[in-house]
Amino acid sequence: MKKKYDYLIVGAGLYGCVFAHEMKKQGKTSLVIDKREHLGGNVYTEKMEGINVHMYGPHIFHTNDKSIWDYVNSIVPFNRFTNSPLAFYQGKMFNLPFNMNTYTQLWGILTPEEAKVKIATQIVPNANPKNLEEYALSAVGRDIYEVLIKGYTEKQWGRKCKDLPVSIIKRLPVRFTYDNNYYNDAYQGVPIGGYTLLIERLLDGIEVKLNTDFFADKEQLQNLANHTIYTGKIDQFYDYKFGKLAYRSVTFEHLIVQKKSYQGNALVNYTDINVPYTRIIEHKHFEFGNQPNTVISKEFPKESAATDEPHYPIGDAINKTRFAQYKKLTQEEKTISFGGRLAEYKYYDMHQVIASALSKCKIKEI
Ligand code: FAD
Repeated sequence: MKKKYDYLIVGAGLYGCVFAHEMKKQGKTSLVIDKREHLGGNVYTEKMEGINVHMYGPHIFHTNDKSIWDYVNSIVPFNRFTNSPLAFYQGKMFNLPFNMNTYTQLWGILTPEEAKVKIATQIVPNANPKNLEEYALSAVGRDIYEVLIKGYTEKQWGRKCKDLPVSIIKRLPVRFTYDNNYYNDAYQGVPIGGYTLLIERLLDGIEVKLNTDFFADKEQLQNLANHTIYTGKIDQFYDYKFGKLAYRSVTFEHLIVQKKSYQGNALVNYTDINVPYTRIIEHKHFEFGNQPNTVISKEFPKESAATDEPHYPIGDAINKTRFAQYKKLTQEEKTISFGGRLAEYKYYDMHQVIASALSKCKIKEI
């Protein structure tokens, strides 16, 4: 029997919203629910002092895939914000990612040849690094590791670099040009008017219920639609029967500052272990704002407790095994599909989660 909606979509994050948008284009109806009081999941932006504040952390869209870039720009135009973060350590500022500016600031050297010689003297060779510290020392040497990597990474993960796997940092970029652009991708920027505008446009004409937890009324909600798209936590869906999947969390302290600019840059990392936050985000710079006041957010990493938002999956062996058990169960489901960062227990960048939702829309059986 045909039900009221074609799809019940659990989660108004990017995955759920792209899916609903595409299905509407195909003439299908959706009800999108979210347990939060706002749309957008982690990309949600809120206006404060006329500035679009990234409430769950800084979000810079970057991709090499022109079709994904064109897709998001067809919904809302993006600017060209280039991510050029800085690092503050014991009274000094350094450019990131590691490039000629960083080497000049660290060692006063000026040419790529000098930088290569200096780094070579710093490196601790290791063909088979067993932990993050050994890997970083073998890739970039002692000064960069001590000043720019160690404290930040240990705060971020709540563990010593000696106890962290190599896999949690991507290949460390070592550039020999004066180039502060963090990403190598061809396209990057943020939506002009904020991510919430992007989400609102994706959901234009689609029914949404906020403050609605799927688990508070699971059967009744599922009965409203022929098929459910679930983007919440996979372990919760199966009542944690194989155990909880672990996450690392971050919390934010948002502050209005009565001055035009606080730090002159969108992102400043605090790499000293003795500073409790990992970075300060100054939101107006994402859209080149000229407002009289500014809004900053301090980012504090922490272990994920039951009441925290889960952010970064801990991809160690035990959690990988647990996830594989849950994934097996999902393959037996007929009227429910799973997608997005929480259901797939995966760190997804925005362009990747959009690509994943778009490819799900092409599957004929759902
Ligand atoms: P979510 O946005 O988490 O959406 C899932 C939604 O489901 C949530 O709104 C949640 O409330 C809802 N939900 C869960 N359970 C239930 C339930 N039981 N009932 C109802 N609703 C439920 N990506 C980039 O490309 N660039 C960046 O610079 C970048 N920065 C980031 C910074 C931080 C700090 C973090 C954590 C992530 C960052 N990302 C970035 C990644 C980006 O946030 C994700 O790619 C994207 O948000 C994933 O979308 P999603 O729909 O899968 O998940």
